[in-house]
Amino acid sequence: MTKKERYQFVVDYFSVHMPEPETELVYDNPYQLLVAVILSAQCTDKRVNLTTPFIFEKYPDIASLSKATAEDVFPLIRSISYPNNKSKHLVGMAQKVESDFNGEIPMTVDELVTLPGVGRKTANVITSVVEKQPNMAVDTHVFRVSKRIGLVSQKASTPLAVEKELVKNIDASLIHKAHHWLILHGRYTCIARNPRCRECGLQQACLWFQKNSLN
Ligand code: SF4
Repeated sequence: MTKKERYQFVVDYFSVHMPEPETELVYDNPYQLLVAVILSAQCTDKRVNLTTPFIFEKYPDIASLSKATAEDVFPLIRSISYPNNKSKHLVGMAQKVESDFNGEIPMTVDELVTLPGVGRKTANVITSVVEKQPNMAVDTHVFRVSKRIGLVSQKASTPLAVEKELVKNIDASLIHKAHHWLILHGRYTCIARNPRCRECGLQQACLWFQKNSLN
């Protein structure tokens, strides 16, 4: 199977089996999504979803969060990983959106990465989920799964290298979906330690499966 055929197989498979994939973070607007994604670093979406309702109740928008202090926010997120840093990031993010962007969350990767707590991965998530921009966020699942299947070179050693290869080979109109496809596949099927190859529909296209099933 050529690389092109491998991509086509994967896209066709997910288009049928996961036609409308969505983030598992619960949110109602870009502000809530940005808060949830900042909190989700090194933390499960499930735990984030248990926490964010309390934040959104107390701080329903950027303006109210910008007036809080990190000490105010900390007790609300203490059960999340790195609460110290994240409470500072949330308040800093809201203050910068107020001061530099008129209170409106910017929708370009270059602008988003100027906000505290927002790296390239988060900026890619926000722009692709909110506006379906063709930006591929590469987290640990996307990194592992795309390399296992053989969508990207085994030599791609950084998230940015993986991102570039995926974006080059997947149709721009499908990038926002492909991000979720690979994350959800990595979370529930192609899991890190023991991938569930028996129940996976990608065996035929997967380099890792072909190599390991022959051993
Ligand atoms: S066949 Fe196995 S290794 Fe390949 S994508 Fe599926 S679960 Fe992952």
